[in-house]
Amino acid sequence: FGDTCPLVSLSCFQTPQRIPHDEAVRQEFRPTKVGDSFGPTWWTCWFKVELSIPREWAGKEVHLLWESDGEGMVWRDAQPVQVRGKNTVSCALISGDFCFHFSHFYSLTVYVEVACNGLFGAGKGSLIAPPDPDKKFTLNKAELVVFNRDVHELLVDFEILVDMAKCLSLLTLRSFQALYVANQMVNLLDVTDSCTFPAVRHLASSIFSQKNGESQHTIHAMGHCHIDSAWLWPYEESIRKCARSWVTVIRLMEKNPEFTFVCSQAQQFEWVRNWYPGLYAQIQDYAKEGRFIPVGGTWVEMDGNLPSGESMVRQFLQGQRFFQQQFGKLCSEVRMMKTMNNNRDKGRVNHSAALFGFGDGGGGPTQKMLDRLKRMSDTNGLPRVQMSTPDRFFSMLEKEKTQLFTWIGELFLELHNGTYTTQTQIKKGNRECERILHDAEVLSSFALTQKNTFQYPSIKLQHLWRLLLLNQFHDVLPGSCIQLVVEDTAESLLVLNTLPWERTEVVSRTGAKTLGAIADGSVTMENGVIAAHLDSMGRVMSLRLVHSGRESVQDGHCANQFVIFDDVPLYWDAWDVMDYHLETRKPITTLLKPLEIVLAGGLRGSVKFSLQISERSVITQEVILDAMCPYLRFLTQVDWNEAHRFLKVEFPLQVRSMNATYEIQLGHLQRPTHWNTSWDWARFEVWSHKWMDLSEHGFGVALLNDCKYGASVHKNVMSLSLLRAPKSPDATADIGPHEFTYAVMPHRGSFQEAGVIHYAYNLNFPLHTVPAVSAQCPAWSAFSVHSPAVVLETVKQAEDRLDGLVVRLYESHGSTVVTWLQTSLPVKEAISCDLLERPDLSSHLPLEEHGLKLSFTPFQVRSVLLILRQ
Ligand SMILES: [Zn+2]
Repeated sequence: FGDTCPLVSLSCFQTPQRIPHDEAVRQEFRPTKVGDSFGPTWWTCWFKVELSIPREWAGKEVHLLWESDGEGMVWRDAQPVQVRGKNTVSCALISGDFCFHFSHFYSLTVYVEVACNGLFGAGKGSLIAPPDPDKKFTLNKAELVVFNRDVHELLVDFEILVDMAKCLSLLTLRSFQALYVANQMVNLLDVTDSCTFPAVRHLASSIFSQKNGESQHTIHAMGHCHIDSAWLWPYEESIRKCARSWVTVIRLMEKNPEFTFVCSQAQQFEWVRNWYPGLYAQIQDYAKEGRFIPVGGTWVEMDGNLPSGESMVRQFLQGQRFFQQQFGKLCSEVRMMKTMNNNRDKGRVNHSAALFGFGDGGGGPTQKMLDRLKRMSDTNGLPRVQMSTPDRFFSMLEKEKTQLFTWIGELFLELHNGTYTTQTQIKKGNRECERILHDAEVLSSFALTQKNTFQYPSIKLQHLWRLLLLNQFHDVLPGSCIQLVVEDTAESLLVLNTLPWERTEVVSRTGAKTLGAIADGSVTMENGVIAAHLDSMGRVMSLRLVHSGRESVQDGHCANQFVIFDDVPLYWDAWDVMDYHLETRKPITTLLKPLEIVLAGGLRGSVKFSLQISERSVITQEVILDAMCPYLRFLTQVDWNEAHRFLKVEFPLQVRSMNATYEIQLGHLQRPTHWNTSWDWARFEVWSHKWMDLSEHGFGVALLNDCKYGASVHKNVMSLSLLRAPKSPDATADIGPHEFTYAVMPHRGSFQEAGVIHYAYNLNFPLHTVPAVSAQCPAWSAFSVHSPAVVLETVKQAEDRLDGLVVRLYESHGSTVVTWLQTSLPVKEAISCDLLERPDLSSHLPLEEHGLKLSFTPFQVRSVLLILRQ
């Protein structure tokens, strides 16, 4: 910077709320000065800045130099205009041109909105530590300065040469050439004499202008800014982060006609649309030009593992429909957050994509990054760099696609295994919300077909879906979630089954009697299907199939064994479980209340016991066996007050297999049960949905759950991960009471033949009982699917047709099948459609006597649009 000049006046006003500009400027501002502090954390300080540019600076590039803690946004004429960049101290408020041509703006007033948090929140002492609520923020500098553009250009030149010297392989001559020129530049430069600058720049350009050979790789550069929709800051701050980052992008677009920016997450566009309509209009203009490019097609960048299959579908349905409505176009690429840092295609294809810009907490590209890219467009020894778009990049790749490697199977990230378990209430809430929305849609759809005055609650459901989709964002944070209160009523009951198969289950606990204690404290439970023998600590000593007598539990071991581990990751507390935690395994064997019988039998038998985990934590469990049910259910309550400990439950089984099977979204996959290679070993903690299974030929055991996601199977021991106690970024994570259910199901044959998938759905979607309106309600079934391999996952109203339902089915066994979908609903027409509900008009499905004939390949997902008779 050159000359400086003080501001005319500076005043401020503080508020604990995040308020709109119009409201802020009406408040009473008090004088303030450089050096003053403001805060505390999460407050906002609005500064009113009056400035006047000296006449003698006319024609010069004048910047407002603003240096304060906290993230800032500059407002002029009620519009956000500029942001304080991450690593720059200057805010290019007024360009030289601007000043020269518009001298009547010689004096002006701007507002600076400073959030009392940094780009990464306000962690106390370290990045991921819980926020410090009492942080103070200081204004360090506020003045007008003359910006030395030629010094800036020299610095950019020089830094690239230094980077070339450092980063290019020492085996190439090129790094030495760069170092030699950089050295010459230093020798030639006299910093006090700007007349030496042109010759110095000329030296640098002698390197930049040396062109590449034909073999050089091409990099498709696209600006990007990763903004976590919530992470170390709340959702509300993310809204402002979007605005701050995207304002910067718009300013850069004005100055750099070649600059392109890719931007994901429909939710963030929706936020800016609602809160910053002026900015949003500018974004839409640049989107029309194809430079501000919506990508990804999803509502948020969701976690890739834990959302259900239908949630994954809805991420795209809500996201793509938003992009279509707002920008007239669907996104043609998917963006998943998991990356594999291993470019096996190098040498085979000649194009790569590079997204650049500060991220996570927002920020995005800077002018300096663009200046560097321009210099590196075609410089010998560096890859060719061009501003590009996803379309351009992928069409280049498509030309070379026969050369590309293909990855089959799971993209397993060897990191952050703890996130399958941390914040179990959010996970439980997620599973519950998915179930509630499923049931609400199924029942609303049926109501629609039964009564034409019924208003399908589509707006309400869309709102709730979007809320759930937002909370599936890829950083685990406490999020609000709807809850269903199940009405338990007595006498006349109507039983509702929202799953597409017949079920025989116990829905109430009437007629129970309690028996006295048993001599050695153990108890046997049997229902004609399975027989379990439990010791006084609730451990399953034996679990047999009654018919064959086949034992499930490994000799000399006991199942339903709670174990606890020390859980101290190297850094990422809430995220990571390290392999070394396994060395600290301790079985929990301190009995608080021995096993006692709660319900003696009839339709339901159950026993109860309590264990002491530590002085501060207790497990209470009710083990339940229902009539005709093939699984033993464990209704578990834990009062959890631990630090850096990991609770699991183990089932050592009499089953030998190289692989275990785990449910994933709309299917399942197998993972090894051994640790032969580093890749096998890395799977010491994996994710799974409603069930996992360990089977040998003719027999197996499945472990079902109603809200857990972390699991592992090593050798013959199945473990379900129950609770963790990390302290960062939330010091209170998982502390307090918990309730969850899991179940063990021994079975003959394969898990497919035994119906494990159906039983896992049953455990997750309990039958609803509601008071019946009349004494006699005839049995009624809306849908049935003939093949047990095909699951009818979803029934909902069509997005674009009020007289239509969309049903979604998938093949769950990994088999090729042809099946019938039968319905008692008044369907007049059936058309295949895709996940975005776009009908395939060439695929009208004939309505036959047995219903609709549908064929499936392994794991195929099919959606069908059913048009109803009015
Ligand atoms: Zn992120």
